[in-house]
Amino acid sequence: MARVFSLRRTSTLALRQRKAALLRRLALPPHAIRASVVERFGTCGKSPCACHQGRKHGPYYYLTQCLAPGQVQKFLLKTPAAQATARGATAAFNQYYDGLEELSQINTELFRRGDPLGA
Ligand SMILES: [Zn+2]
Repeated sequence: MARVFSLRRTSTLALRQRKAALLRRLALPPHAIRASVVERFGTCGKSPCACHQGRKHGPYYYLTQCLAPGQVQKFLLKTPAAQATARGATAAFNQYYDGLEELSQINTELFRRGDPLGA
């Protein structure tokens, strides 16, 4: 779900200033990935292994990306460098997305007030 910004009581001038600041800041991050980094622990196939007594293997980190309902792409992040890259890429996406969502809500409020939106 999108973050909801409280804009109804914000002045039109303040909305326009916030919009201008967002437009200056919002550069499409070239390495953005819309996904999640998830941590997993697991058991192996060797029955005498300690993982079957509760000491599971891991943590393992995966990049998971939901492409459509029931269609999830997932792969193991094998190295700390890959994990860091994935965290940076997903954070870049989320930061850009939050800015775009805020811009959308500001534009909706300005449009509701009769602003031509500069189009
Ligand atoms: Zn095991």
